[in-house]
Amino acid sequence: MRPFGYLTPPDRAGAIAAVTGRPGATFLAGGTNLVDLMKLGVADPDLLVDVTGLLPDRIEPTAAGGLRIGAGVRNSDLAADPGVRAGFPVLARAVLTGASGQLRNMATVGGNLLQRTRCLYFQDVTKPCNKRVPGSGCPARAGDHRNLAILGGSPHCVATHPSDMAVALAALDAVVHVEGPAGPRAVPVTGPVGGLYRLPGDRPDRETTLERGDLITAVEIPPLAYAGNSAYRKVRDRTSYAFAVVSVAAALDVADGVVRDARLAIGAVAPVPWRARAAERVLAGRPATAEWFGRAADAELAKASPLPDNAFKLTLVRNVVVQMLGELAGDGS
Ligand SMILES: Cc1cc2nc3c(=O)[nH]c(=O)nc-3n(C[C@H](O)[C@H](O)[C@H](O)COP(=O)(O)OP(=O)(O)OC[C@H]3O[C@@H](n4cnc5c(N)ncnc54)[C@H](O)[C@@H]3O)c2cc1C
Ligand code: SF4
Repeated sequence: MRPFGYLTPPDRAGAIAAVTGRPGATFLAGGTNLVDLMKLGVADPDLLVDVTGLLPDRIEPTAAGGLRIGAGVRNSDLAADPGVRAGFPVLARAVLTGASGQLRNMATVGGNLLQRTRCLYFQDVTKPCNKRVPGSGCPARAGDHRNLAILGGSPHCVATHPSDMAVALAALDAVVHVEGPAGPRAVPVTGPVGGLYRLPGDRPDRETTLERGDLITAVEIPPLAYAGNSAYRKVRDRTSYAFAVVSVAAALDVADGVVRDARLAIGAVAPVPWRARAAERVLAGRPATAEWFGRAADAELAKASPLPDNAFKLTLVRNVVVQMLGELAGDGS
């Protein structure tokens, strides 16, 4: 690890100026991802700008009936918050499935959203990787890609986004509040255009639409009348301390056996938390039956281009979607 400086600026403006003015500087929150990457040699900042004391750390209801979550809120506090557990169970559950108790005590909301992929080649500096060293190649396509993307990838990168929280926030239409050198702005976590995350295309090294010095200060969830009927399911190789092989965040509004509205996002299948809008369109106004839940999954997966060792995710996603929506529709399964 190369030597680095450590700065605790007095305020957010100082933190933003420190990172904006120095290409080797980066924000430090809980450090649970950044410090690991520094130890591996994947990240080599020359200055860590500690923002842990500068970020809002409260969870507050908004006047409209949603929630505003400070970027400094620790993952464990978010998962334990009574308002989140009762009003947005999909979010509480997603956060609880991530990492371990100790890590969730350190990890922050802002840092969770910006954690880096767990692609093995990205984490191994002895291997080529277009995301880490642009233009060096992508060994994952012909190598170990069991856990990598079936949707949204490109010939240049098929990494998956590792965050569970981000999948739930995508389903909930959450918006990220940012302060930066160009002033404050709000960015949707996922949007048809202009969301926080970028697909890799031919620049997998550019993962978000944030610019140097942009600091996430809060996440806002708009009101959703049926958010109480939501859930998160994560399929993983073991039951703790493991990233998702596939995950699904869902919220469902059913009346008289017909879907009035649905929210669906899928994790660990794409370089970004994948909002399943094609599936949502199929579901709206249709019978709340396993047949239609399966058709919705099929509509989303029609765009998939799996690699030889991760095609099993197609079946897995379909099965999880059908089972979860069935449960949310009250089929008692
Ligand atoms: C063993 C292990 C298992 C894990 N399992 C899971 C899992 O199953 N699911 C899951 O979702 N996660 C998992 N994680 C990841 C963990 O959730 C993240 O490491 C954590 O959420 C990152 O938050 P942090 O505050 O520690 O971020 P940091 O490590 O401090 O920062 C991460 C990145 O975000 C940037 N950053 C931080 N805060 C801000 C901000 N406010 N504005 C702008 N940039 C910022 C930093 O510069 C850095 O680039 C696991 C981690 C480990 C070590
Ligand atoms: S999938 Fe992306 S992160 Fe993984 S080796 Fe290829 S370019 Fe690197």
